[in-house]
Amino acid sequence: MAWFEQSHRHLPWKGEKDPYLIWLSEVILQQTRVEQGLPYFERFRARYPTIRHLAEAPEDEVMKLWEGLGYYSRARNLHAAARHISRELGGRFPDTYEGIRQLKGVGPYTAAAVASFAFGLPHAVVDGNVFRVLSRFFGIDTPVDTTAGKKEFTSLAEELLDSRQPGRYNQAIMDFGATHCTPKTPACPACPLRPACTAIRAGKTDALPVKDKKQEKRLRFFHYLVITHEGRYLLNKRTEKDIWQNLYEFPLLELPHASREEEEIRSSLLWQQLLSGQPAVISHISGAYQQLLTHQKIIATFWKVALPRNASLNPGPFLAVSRENLSKFAFPKIINRYLGESRLTLFL
Ligand code: SF4
Repeated sequence: MAWFEQSHRHLPWKGEKDPYLIWLSEVILQQTRVEQGLPYFERFRARYPTIRHLAEAPEDEVMKLWEGLGYYSRARNLHAAARHISRELGGRFPDTYEGIRQLKGVGPYTAAAVASFAFGLPHAVVDGNVFRVLSRFFGIDTPVDTTAGKKEFTSLAEELLDSRQPGRYNQAIMDFGATHCTPKTPACPACPLRPACTAIRAGKTDALPVKDKKQEKRLRFFHYLVITHEGRYLLNKRTEKDIWQNLYEFPLLELPHASREEEEIRSSLLWQQLLSGQPAVISHISGAYQQLLTHQKIIATFWKVALPRNASLNPGPFLAVSRENLSKFAFPKIINRYLGESRLTLFL
């Protein structure tokens, strides 16, 4: 905490007492670097200064504002929880750990952060930064991604918590892990914990913390039909329980492999449903676009399909959107990249 007094980062949510803004910043910062999350926090705070503003916003607008930040379930949960607080709890943010924990999308980490920062409740935060500091300082090699590891580190963190100043203590240890005892280049020579640090004594800073599983990423091959007809594009809203829920995309054909065979695309059910009997021409096949997600790697190919003016396209469940209106929809990053890079060919 003495280190924190001198070195802590100045961020707009530091010292904040409004539980809504603390919660918002914590959700934005999950799986996201501070530099990336900061402008989103400012944008959300400006557009939705209170929980009521967020609750009353249309979902598509919230998703659009979140666009580019990834892990979109966070935005959906944030919005759903804001509506719940506004409608069921009379607009009052819950002020107990258990109450906060019951909000949609709130796990033990976020609940402890909001409970301690906003309400001064004695709950220790345990995130990647805390795992690292504790495992190095105490020389604990229990894998942090196992149930036993989580239990051990959580109970140690609770034991160490300064219950008179839990918010300050939590912020201090998190900042210490984020900026001082960092994953690759911890600042050991200038570290106030050095005299008692087990990892530095045992030469194990690189080996701690230990992780058990290296998850294999699932490879998925997306083939998008970018169908243009009279200046309009067909779009689909992703509603299934899968990645990118509630974002928009072009009609999607998912295959177990990459393909550049026109025949394979033309013989698909999607093509048959949308374009059978139409004089459709595949006018361009993009290169492979890649996006890495936590557990998946998406490889997308965009098949630009042109139809003559006199074609009578029946969009079925798809939306037909003019090119000027495309920018109003929230797309996954991979589609935004395609749209950005192919602006010239796409809009000719
Ligand atoms: S001495 Fe190095 S490894 Fe130990 S707590 Fe300090 S920065 Fe981390």
